[in-house]
Amino acid sequence: MSEKVIIIGSGPAGLTAAIYASRANMKPLLFEGFQDGGIPGGQLMITSLVENFPGFPEGIMGPSLMSNMREQAVNLGARLIMEDVISVKLDSRPFTVISSSEETYTADALIIATGALARRLPLDSEKRLWGRGISACAVCDGALPAFRDKPLAVIGGGDTAVEEALHLTQFASKVYLIHRRDELRASKIMRERVLNHPKVEILWNKTVEEFIGDKSLSSLRLRDTVTGEFSEITAAGAFEAIGHQPNTAFLKNQLELDSQGYIITKPNSTAASIDGVFAAGDVQDTKYRQAITAAASGCQSVIDTEHFLNFLL
Ligand code: NDP
Repeated sequence: MSEKVIIIGSGPAGLTAAIYASRANMKPLLFEGFQDGGIPGGQLMITSLVENFPGFPEGIMGPSLMSNMREQAVNLGARLIMEDVISVKLDSRPFTVISSSEETYTADALIIATGALARRLPLDSEKRLWGRGISACAVCDGALPAFRDKPLAVIGGGDTAVEEALHLTQFASKVYLIHRRDELRASKIMRERVLNHPKVEILWNKTVEEFIGDKSLSSLRLRDTVTGEFSEITAAGAFEAIGHQPNTAFLKNQLELDSQGYIITKPNSTAASIDGVFAAGDVQDTKYRQAITAAASGCQSVIDTEHFLNFLL
């Protein structure tokens, strides 16, 4: 029997969609994922204390927040399958979804909420100190007590890196912006802001060779990309802002994506380029990328899906 709606993805966007779709009596089926594009639950599963998700005055650990959302979705009747979706067929309705166990499912509407993975530096020392001073989100983690009034570093030269560096100036004693070239990729206005900020020092033509620290990060060893010289800076925190990779490989060009692979949605809507397909959360968001904005777009995607399904009747 065909489903009314299949949701793909189990981060804040997918689980919020499952909560809303259950409440709207759509009996949603949700693919939580297994290994493609990160672990089920999404990026909050690798975040420690979340202090900016409303409703938790003392903050809440990322994995606990996701487990609460999952439990809420299940309690309301959502059916969850812990498998990856390996392909979809969107050229006719009902849409076809094929899971990693090669089962085939069909649905009148699809909500894609597979997120985007923050790119990471491929260093052993990075893996060892990840979550112990190294993070991919200054907005999420920058205000933690361990980073207060300490020198911090941001790696990258795009808008995200600049935004994160400026955000960190509120808490840090100093912010290093480490960029591999001698020119920032960020937009002009952001470049001007960061170049003129008294707390930010830009380290041009530098890459990170090693993150150093015992229990937590204490310094970074850098290499000059022009001269090859090595140097070291002290930093209690390092924030990687070297771009994201949206989890859209399984769509195999069946939906309109932008040049970086993000799903393009219609203005002021979660509707993707094919009627009946909706996108929520980071898989369609290059700008906000917060748990709360992902959750909000999960809600919007269900409201859009409901309108679509009513129209089909
Ligand atoms: P970008 O891809 O724009 O920038 C990534 C940066 O990381 C680049 O400077 C790149 O260097 C650097 N980088 C990539 N790989 C490595 C590596 N292995 N080692 C060292 N450095 C590396 O990603 P962003 O997340 O900054 O932005 C994504 C999109 O979102 C952009 O279109 C951006 O404009 C947009 N955005 C808009 C915002 C806003 O409007 N407020 C806020 C944030 C993002 P190089 O420059 O040499 O390639």
